[in-house]
Amino acid sequence: MSKPLSDHDRKKQISVRGLAGVENVADLKKNFNRHLHFTLVKDRNVSTKRDYYFALAHTVRDHLVGRWIRTQQSYYEKDPKRVYYLSLEFYMGRTLQNTMVNLALENACDEAVYQLGLDMEELQEMEEDAGLGNGGLGRLAACFLDSMASLGLAAYGYGIRYEFGIFNQKISSGWQVEEADDWLRYGNPWEKARPEYMRPVHFYGRTEHHPDGVKWVDTQVVLALPYDTPVPGYRNNIVNTMRLWSAKAPCEFSLKDFNVGGYIQAVLDRNLAENISRVLYPNDNQTPIFNIITSSEALERWPIDLFQTLLPRHLEIIYEINRRHLEHVSSLYPGDVDRMRRMSLIEEGGQKRVNMAHLCIVGSHAVNGVARIHSDILKATVFKDFYEMDPHKFQNKTNGITPRRWLVMCNPGLAEVIAERIGEDFIRDLDQLKKLHDFVNDEAFIRDIAKVKQENKLKFAVHLEEHYKVKINPNSVFDVQVKRIHEYKRQLLNCLHIITFYNREFREMSDNYVLFNSSQAAPGYHTAKMIIRLITAIGEVVNKDPVVGDRLKVIFLENYRVTLAEKAIPAADLSEQISTAGTEASGTGNMKFMLNGALTIGTMDGANVEMAEEAGEGNIFIFGMRVEDVEAMDAKGYNASEFYNRIPELKQAIDQIAGGFFSPKQPDLFKDIVNMLMHHDRFKVFADYEDYIKCQEKVSALYKKPKEWTKKVILNIAGSGKFSSDRTISQYAREIWGVEPTLEKLAAPDDPK
Ligand SMILES: *Cc1c(COP(=O)(O)O)cnc(C)c1O
Repeated sequence: MSKPLSDHDRKKQISVRGLAGVENVADLKKNFNRHLHFTLVKDRNVSTKRDYYFALAHTVRDHLVGRWIRTQQSYYEKDPKRVYYLSLEFYMGRTLQNTMVNLALENACDEAVYQLGLDMEELQEMEEDAGLGNGGLGRLAACFLDSMASLGLAAYGYGIRYEFGIFNQKISSGWQVEEADDWLRYGNPWEKARPEYMRPVHFYGRTEHHPDGVKWVDTQVVLALPYDTPVPGYRNNIVNTMRLWSAKAPCEFSLKDFNVGGYIQAVLDRNLAENISRVLYPNDNQTPIFNIITSSEALERWPIDLFQTLLPRHLEIIYEINRRHLEHVSSLYPGDVDRMRRMSLIEEGGQKRVNMAHLCIVGSHAVNGVARIHSDILKATVFKDFYEMDPHKFQNKTNGITPRRWLVMCNPGLAEVIAERIGEDFIRDLDQLKKLHDFVNDEAFIRDIAKVKQENKLKFAVHLEEHYKVKINPNSVFDVQVKRIHEYKRQLLNCLHIITFYNREFREMSDNYVLFNSSQAAPGYHTAKMIIRLITAIGEVVNKDPVVGDRLKVIFLENYRVTLAEKAIPAADLSEQISTAGTEASGTGNMKFMLNGALTIGTMDGANVEMAEEAGEGNIFIFGMRVEDVEAMDAKGYNASEFYNRIPELKQAIDQIAGGFFSPKQPDLFKDIVNMLMHHDRFKVFADYEDYIKCQEKVSALYKKPKEWTKKVILNIAGSGKFSSDRTISQYAREIWGVEPTLEKLAAPDDPK
C-alpha cells in the first residue's frame, strides 16, 4: 500500500485552490500573528490548537468584511428586487474552508499555515459544525445560499439561531445516545450580533374591534435579536447575509405581572421566553410523501384552540382568507359541497384545525415540488383539487447541491483531474461537465479518475483507523448509505442485503466489501433506534468472523453530519438510494455521490429518476417497484409473508434476526422490527428484496471490470451538471421570483495588508 502524498504537497499542485503568491502569504502570516496576539490574547508558548484555528478564522474573515460591506452598499444603491429565503433550518456545516475556496485563498492560507509550523487539517478539525438542521431540507437551504451569492442575487437567508443544533450521536454498546450540541461554547467567529436591529414579536393577548380598525392588545412581547453571518459567492466578491434570530426576554419581562416570587423569579422566568430559540427539534421529514397520500394526518394541521390563544389576530385573518377562498371555490364549482370541505383551510370534525399546507397554497402565487416525480405526485394526489382550480400555480424545481462544497472543497483531487481536461469554468457552470463525454475512452483520464477514487478511499481508511480504530481494506467496494434513519429510506432493505451476502460469503463472494452506514435517529422514533441497533449488531457478528476476515466489513459511522458527509462521499464506490418508490421527495445525498464518482443503486424515486435520465439508464443500477407498481400492490394488499415463504434467502435472513443470531445475549431484541416487517410494513421492504439482491449481484460483477466501472463513473459525473443548485436557483429566480441572475462580479476591495 503506497502512502498518499502529504496533504500539503498534494494541494500545492492544485490550481483550483487559488494562488499562493509570496505577498499574500506574508500578509496572511502577519495577520494571523496579529489576531493571535490582539484577538486571542495569547503567545505561541501557551496557544492551543483551538487558538490557532480562531486566529486563522479571524484572518480569513477579515477578507470577507470589505466585500460584505460593499455588496450591501451596492444593493442599497442599485435597489434590486430582494429574495428572502425563510427556513427553520440552515445546515451550514463548517465555514472556514468554504470561505477560503470561494475567496481563492486556500493555497495561500495553506502555505502560510505551513510556514508557521502548523497543520491546516488539524486546525480545520477544531471548527464546530453549524448543525442547525436535521438533514436534506436544512442542507438544501445552505446550498441555496451559496448559489444565490454565486449567482449575484440580492438574497438573504432568514432563520433561527438555535443555541443547540442537531444532537451529537454517540454509539454506546451499539445503541444511539444523544449529547447536546453546545456549538457556541467557544464563540462563533463568523457571526456578528446586531442588537441595533432588535425587533419585538407579539404573542397571546386579544383583539379589539373598533370602527377604525382592529387592535391586538394585552400581548406578551419577546424580542428577536438578529445575528448576521456572511455568505460569500464563488470568486465574485459578493457577500450576502444569513440573518439568524435569537429570542431575548425584554428587560421588563414578567415583572409587570408582579408574580408572587417577585424580582428573582421574574429574572429566572426570562428563560421561558428565551427557550424559543434554545434547541433545534431533531425531527426529520415526518411526512414521506406516500404518507400524505394514505393519511392526511401527516400534514401540518394546527389546532384552532392553540392558534386562538397564541395568535388570536392571525386566526381572524385566516378565517377571512378562508371566507374569500371558499367563495371563489363555490363560484367555480357551484353546489360542490364536498370539494369545499376538502379545500377549506379549516378542518372541521373533532378538534378543529388549520390546514397549513392549504393556507400556504392559497397565500402563494407559486407552489412547487422538488423533483419531477414529486411535483407530479403532488398534483395527482394531495393537492389535486388545488391543481384543478389553479393549474398554472403548480411548478417543479428539481433540487440541487452546490458544487463548491460538494466537489471543489471536499474532493479537490477530482476537481483538479476534471479541470485539467475541461478547464475550471464548470465550477460556476456545472453543465460543462458534459464535455467529459469526449474523455470516456481516454485511457489516461480513466486511470486518473480511478486513481483519485483510490486515494480518497485510502485517506478515508486512514481517517477511520486514526479516529475510530477500525481497520478496513481500502481495495474493497465502499458501499455507502448515509442519511437520516427512516423506515421509508429502507435501511432495513440494506440490512437484508448485508445478511444475504454474509450468508453467501463462504460460497461465492470473491471481492471485498465494506458496507458503511451512518445515520441519526430522531430521539423519540423507536423503530429508527432499533434499526441502528440492528446494523451495529450485524457488524458485531460479521466483523469478528475469522472466516470472513476483511472480505466483508459492516461499519456504522458515528454522528453523521455535514463534515462526515464531506469525508465519506468522495470515498464511496456505490451510493444506496433505496426508498420505496413515491416516498422520497427528491433526495440530495444521491446527487453528491453522483458528482463525486460513485455509482447509484436505487429505486425510481425522487431525483433518482432524473439522474437515470441524465447519466443514461444503462449507467445506474435501478431496481424494484415503480410508483405504479406500489399503487397496484396497495390496491391488492401487500402481503409480506408471501415473499417470506417464497424466497428462501429472505426467510433465512429474517429467521436469523428473529432467532437472535445477531443478538445471542438477547434473542428477542429485534422482535418489534421483525413483527413490523412481517405484519405492518408501510414501505414494503420484502417486495423489493429479490430485485435488490439481483441488482447488487450486477454491481459486484461490474466492479470486477474496473475499466468498465470507471467509464460508467465518468458518464455519471458528465451527467451530473443538472444537479447543481445554481441551476435550481436560476429556475426559482426566473420562473417564480421574477429576478434575473447577474453573474456579475463586484470589484475586489483592497485585501487586508
Ligand atoms: C445531503 C445531506 C443529507 C440529505 O441526504 P439524503 O440522502 O438526500 O436524505 C442529510 N444530511 C447531511 C449531513 C447531508 O449532507
